[in-house]
Amino acid sequence: MDLLKQRILEDGTVLPGNVLKVDNFLNHQVDAKLMDQIGAEFARLFKDEGVTKVVTVESSGIAPALTTAIHMDVPLIFARKHKSLTLTDNLYTASVYSYTKQVSNDISIDKRFLKPDDRILIIDDFLANGQAVQGLLEIANLAKVKVAGVGIVIEKSFQKGHTMIEKSGVRLESLARIASLDNQEVTFVD
Ligand code: 5GP
Repeated sequence: MDLLKQRILEDGTVLPGNVLKVDNFLNHQVDAKLMDQIGAEFARLFKDEGVTKVVTVESSGIAPALTTAIHMDVPLIFARKHKSLTLTDNLYTASVYSYTKQVSNDISIDKRFLKPDDRILIIDDFLANGQAVQGLLEIANLAKVKVAGVGIVIEKSFQKGHTMIEKSGVRLESLARIASLDNQEVTFVD
């Protein structure tokens, strides 16, 4: 998606540890119009997949997932993060290691919101090592729902997540694919 790539080049900054900071349009301040265009693009890409719900993880995935859900005319579910819970009977839960925060959190979705006839589209802001997506795939497995695909706003293709999803056989669509962040410079795959 050229508009997104251009914005990354204009406003993204590279932090140590292969972290791309895009908090002026995606992760903190949100460019609502750009999010709308991102949602429209995911909806176009996955329009024939029979998606019944869009699923993400709070909080950075919510903006692009919400606009995708609007364009697909389906509900959005965001998995909630928490440290530990005693009462988890009513929840599907998976453990996720956070790339940027370097801590593990449980993520959960209430069992009421996922039913076996659902076909979910997973959306997230970034794909690094694939832990967040892996956690959502685990939850999908527990809930016995089908996964129509994974849509990522910014993929760091040089990290493990891309290969992990490819191997799982789930369709992956990333709107911007970064080949390298070496020397504080963003280089795209294409
Ligand atoms: P993964 O689970 O694929 O290892 O990492 C994905 C999650 O980590 C994303 O949801 C995002 O919140 C965060 N993340 C990973 N890499 C980056 C990055 O380079 N920049 C930002 N802003 N967030 C990242």
